[in-house]
Amino acid sequence: MPDDWRLQNQMDFLRNVELVWKEYKAPSESWDHDHCEFCWAEFMEAAGPEYLRAGYCTEDEYRWICKQCFENFKAMFAWTVKNS
Ligand SMILES: [Zn+2]
Repeated sequence: MPDDWRLQNQMDFLRNVELVWKEYKAPSESWDHDHCEFCWAEFMEAAGPEYLRAGYCTEDEYRWICKQCFENFKAMFAWTVKNS
């Protein structure tokens, strides 16, 4: 396992999963943002340079991964990408 501060225990739940590139949509009014599972960058519908508006997510849209982390870890995690 490479020594990268972004790697925690994601192997337990993100290995070999299928991801979809999607625009971020807030699940509800009280749950209006999510974080990248690796670097904690923030996904939000709101405009602003600090927010990511789209990313790779699991099919249930529960876990989000930013483009940078996707590129860095896709081989290690053996992700496949499904067209949305
Ligand atoms: Zn990230």
